[in-house]
Amino acid sequence: MKTTESESVNRKQGSSDDVSDYTYTHNALRQIHVEQKRWSLRGFSISGLSTYFQIPELDLCVDMGECPMSALSLNHVLLTHSHGDHSRCLMRHNSLRRMMQNPTQAVYYIPEPVYSLAIDLIKAETLFEGVSEERFDLPRLECVKAGENFDLAYRKDLEAFPFNVKHSIPAYGYTVFCKKKKLKKEYIDYSREQIISLKKSGTEVTNDIREPIVSFMGDCLGESLWEEQHIWKSPVVVCECTFLDPDEVSMARKKGHTHIEHIAQALAKVGDSISCQSIILTHFSMKYSKKHILNTVNKIIPEEFKEKVKVFL
Ligand SMILES: [Zn+2]
Ligand SMILES: [Zn+2]
Repeated sequence: MKTTESESVNRKQGSSDDVSDYTYTHNALRQIHVEQKRWSLRGFSISGLSTYFQIPELDLCVDMGECPMSALSLNHVLLTHSHGDHSRCLMRHNSLRRMMQNPTQAVYYIPEPVYSLAIDLIKAETLFEGVSEERFDLPRLECVKAGENFDLAYRKDLEAFPFNVKHSIPAYGYTVFCKKKKLKKEYIDYSREQIISLKKSGTEVTNDIREPIVSFMGDCLGESLWEEQHIWKSPVVVCECTFLDPDEVSMARKKGHTHIEHIAQALAKVGDSISCQSIILTHFSMKYSKKHILNTVNKIIPEEFKEKVKVFL
């Protein structure tokens, strides 16, 4: 007989403490907050149940496995891949905003491999709800391609870089950058007045630069963590850590997910080149209790990285 997810969850439950722990850990509307220096990451992420992230200061959501009211004011949504636990509330976001007469059209950034399927799905969903074909009108979707940066529609100071990661279906990670102007080196000792007069004479005194803010890995094999080394330049890296137990390494590979041993391997491989301040582990399998997750992370993450590594629970 096929083992269902809920059966395997039950099997791992030991004490009544664990039962209340599951009730707490598995509530997708109970949002986690992780404060950063200038912004905060909110949301929820448990494998198979739901994954969604919100960064209000960047007017940004990543994935929409659930759509709590706090997502409705955010205008940009990056989709990592089409698995239901990451994507199923995309159009709920759109329809609730319409219902609340939000005058701005949210923008949904869809990975190119599933872009046309997304259109079919949205159309089918709308017809299913009884809207006639003539009244169907597509929300604002943008097809994004791995390797091609794009500006966020309503935040010209922000840019996103989608990149391929290895999962069981086509999937992207994203790095979000802040675009800035930086004074050219040769003018660093100039006074304010001198800079103003140079500008007036038409001299370009600044260079355009971009600084990474955060990288999201989405769902992926652990090896994407060392194949996509650019992510470690972001001050915050949000990565999945679906599997924890020693006998689950091959299962992680089979399902296209990261095992905690791979996180430790990635940290060893990139070592000193890690400039990021926080590594946020997400997307744990629903069969683990919070206690088991915290104990295992504490056991496997090397001492020198313990301060950086946080669990999204
Ligand atoms: Zn997932
Ligand atoms: Zn997935």
